[in-house]
Amino acid sequence: MRERLQQELEQIKEAGNYREIRYLKPVNESRVWYEGSEYLNLCSNSYLSLHTHPDVMKAAKDAIDEYGAGTCSSRSVSGSIDLYALLEDDVAAFKGYQRALIFSNGYLANMGIIATLAGTHDVIFSDELNHSSIIDSIRLSRARRVIYRHCDVEDLEKKIRREPVSTKKFVITETVFSMDGDVAPLAAIFRLKEKYDLHLIVDEAHATGVFGERGRGVEELQGLAGLMDVQMGTFGKALGSFGAFALSDSLTIEYLVNRARTFMYTTALPASALGAARSALQLIREDGSFKKELWENIDYMRQGLHKLGFDLKQSEGPIVPIVVGEDSKAVRMQKMLLEQGIFLQAIRPPTVPAGTSRLRLTIVRGLTREDMNSALEALAQVGRSVGLI
Ligand SMILES: *Cc1c(COP(=O)(O)O)cnc(C)c1O
Repeated sequence: MRERLQQELEQIKEAGNYREIRYLKPVNESRVWYEGSEYLNLCSNSYLSLHTHPDVMKAAKDAIDEYGAGTCSSRSVSGSIDLYALLEDDVAAFKGYQRALIFSNGYLANMGIIATLAGTHDVIFSDELNHSSIIDSIRLSRARRVIYRHCDVEDLEKKIRREPVSTKKFVITETVFSMDGDVAPLAAIFRLKEKYDLHLIVDEAHATGVFGERGRGVEELQGLAGLMDVQMGTFGKALGSFGAFALSDSLTIEYLVNRARTFMYTTALPASALGAARSALQLIREDGSFKKELWENIDYMRQGLHKLGFDLKQSEGPIVPIVVGEDSKAVRMQKMLLEQGIFLQAIRPPTVPAGTSRLRLTIVRGLTREDMNSALEALAQVGRSVGLI
């Protein structure tokens, strides 16, 4: 056995695809300490920089004072402290759904939703670039999986038509793709839902707090707030905390409470995570300036990168893919950027398809003009030295 592991690790290394954990310490909302130096962090998903907001941090501390450090039980036993009900009501009202159910994280939420609602005789249509948690959930559901081309509604419809009318059909898509930063054609997919009686499940992990007039996500952006069969979203990205939620009608949520194994058999989130998420949600509901400042940074960085000649593909918003292709080239660029004080990760297979290794930058609200100017300067230098621009 050990030999097999050793061999496979060697292969991973040869392919330039080896991963090592890098331990850091945050300095402030956009900087980290790593191996004795300070770096600008260009790979945080805390888009609104709320994880260090004083109100959010205070809410986490207050929740600990009131409830203790851990809940030490699953939600079905004694872990459902009343903070859950408050946060579930808040997030359901914000997103325009009847009811919410909080899971311990997004991975478990997708597992709980997809593997519980879809079963052996069903078919699930899945975008080819969907997140690993969605892919694993589909496997666990035992439904048949049909992959459609990325954001390609025509291909999706063609594949739906091949299936018997009587088969129960699910469509699952991220609304903002985590490694490509592009937005799903949700309105067009929704028309197919009505035409073919599909069950539509969307993952708004990267859209929550960022897209739509009030930050309610791509559903809101495309005029569909509250209309999906189930929406999954997380507290761990723009909301600066940890945890995730399913949104749906009361019946579906009641069913998940009784059947979703990833809800039933894991320890409930600590109060601090719930308190922080609730505070962050309140901030974005009451104050549009967080989102506005984020989008000012997004526009500034995107224009700068565009002027330098980077191809940003179809991305919109805070996630910026710079696709370089070869794994080793992406790693080389990552190292060169580190030398220039920029911390980010080269994203390689299996996180992205083979041959599309990339740098994935994220733009957050807490970046200053100086931060962004120095990032653009470093990216220009590195991009030129490898012949990308
Ligand atoms: C991050 C992410 C998840 C998982 O959420 P966690 O709370 O980190 O487990 C699920 N789906 C997508 C699209 C994500 O980007």
